[in-house]
Amino acid sequence: MGNEFLENVLKTIKRGVEIGGFPEDLYKMLSKPERIVIVKIPVRMDDGRLEVFEGYRVQHNSALGPYKGGIRFHPQVTLEDDIALATLMTLKNSLAGIPYGGGKGAVRVDPKKLSPRELEQLSRGYVRALYRVLGDHIDIPAPDIGTNPQIMAWMVDEYSKLEGYNVPGVFTAKPPVLWGNPVREYATGFGLAVVTREAAEKYLGGIEGKRVAIQGFGNTGQWHAYWLQKMGAKIVAISDTSGTVYDPEGIDVELAMKVKKETGKVINYPKGEKIPDPKAPLYVDAEILGPDAMENQITLENVDKVKAKLIVEGANGPTTPEAEQKLYEKGSIVVPDFLANAGGVVMSYLEWVENLQWYFWDEEETRARLEKIMRNNFLKVYDRFEKMRSEKPKVTMRDAALVLSLERLYHAMKVRGWL
Ligand code: GLU
Repeated sequence: MGNEFLENVLKTIKRGVEIGGFPEDLYKMLSKPERIVIVKIPVRMDDGRLEVFEGYRVQHNSALGPYKGGIRFHPQVTLEDDIALATLMTLKNSLAGIPYGGGKGAVRVDPKKLSPRELEQLSRGYVRALYRVLGDHIDIPAPDIGTNPQIMAWMVDEYSKLEGYNVPGVFTAKPPVLWGNPVREYATGFGLAVVTREAAEKYLGGIEGKRVAIQGFGNTGQWHAYWLQKMGAKIVAISDTSGTVYDPEGIDVELAMKVKKETGKVINYPKGEKIPDPKAPLYVDAEILGPDAMENQITLENVDKVKAKLIVEGANGPTTPEAEQKLYEKGSIVVPDFLANAGGVVMSYLEWVENLQWYFWDEEETRARLEKIMRNNFLKVYDRFEKMRSEKPKVTMRDAALVLSLERLYHAMKVRGWL
C-alpha cells in the first residue's frame, strides 16, 4: 500500500519543479533520499523482557550542508513517513537560508508507555546504532514529535562517550545547561507566531483582536498560542487527543499550559465549552487557524467545514494538496509548513553555531536573531507569491515557497556538478 503523506510530498515537489520551470532531473534527484539507515535497537525492559525496536535515519539531501532534522518517537510512524519528513526538511532548510541539507529519524514506539529508564536506554541505543552516520558536520538531529531536550541530553552524552570528548553540536535543542539555548524550548511556536503576525498584517489588517484556533497542544501548538496571545490575538480554541476546549471569549493560554503540564489533558481546562472531537478547532469560527498537530488533518472530506481565512501550518503536512486547492478557491491563504514552522530548525542552527564556537548569546539576543530570520523569510516568500499570483492566479503561497527553496537547491546541485 502506498503512503499518502509521502505521495503528497512528492506531488508537491513535482508541482514546484513544473511551476518553477526546473529540469525534470531536479525532481529525480529530490524524489529519493541519498541514504536510508534502518537499525534495530534492543532494550531490556523493566520487567526483564527484551524488546527490539526498529529505528530509522533518513539522510535525504546534503547539497547545502550536513543533514539536519528531528527524530520522531511515535507508535505508528513508518519508514515512508520518515522519508516524507526528511524530504520536507531539505525544502525547509533550503528555504530558511541555513547551511543544511535535510534528514529525519524515527523509532516506532509509544514513548508514553516507557519508563524513564527504558526511554533512556532506547535513546542511547539509537545513537549507538547510528553513531557512524551522525556528527556535528555529518548529520545533526533534534527533537520532533515524541522526543524532547532530555532525550537530546542522553543522546549527546552517548555520542560524546563514543567519540571520547564532548561534541555539543551533534544534537540541537538540548537543555540550556548542556549547551542548549533557552529560546529553543519555544522556538517553533515563536517562529510560527511571528509568521502568523506578519501574514495577518498583510491579509487581515493586523493581528490585534483576531480570533485564532489551534489544533494540537504539544510543544508547537502551546507556544504558537502563547506568543500569539502576547501579540494581541484572541485564542478561541485549543485541542489535544483528549478533546477540544472552545471559548469565544478567549482562552487563558498560560493557564491551559499549566493544566496540560499537570494533568496531561487540555480538556481539564476549567472554563469554556468541551468538544470531544480533537479536530474541532479546524471548524470553529475564527479568522486564523493553526493546524499544529499532525500530517493529513485537512482533507477533501472536511475542508468544506474550515472557516478560517488564514491557515498557518505548524505541523508538517497537515493539509493535503487537494484540500489546499479548495481553501484557495474559497479565498483562504495557507502559509505552508516548511516556511511557517521553520523556527525550530532555524533556532537549531543558531544553537549549533554557538556550539561550534563554544560561545553563547543570551535569550533576548537569540530571540531577536530568530525573529529577524523568520520575518525576512516570510516577506521574501510573500513578495514572490504576490508577484507570481499576479501572473498566474491559481498559484499558492506553497508554490512560491517551493520555487524559492528549489532555486537554491538547484543552483547548489548544479554548481556541484550533480545536475
Ligand atoms: N523537528 C523539527 C522540524 O520538523 C526541528 C528540526 C531541527 O531542529 O533540526 O523542523
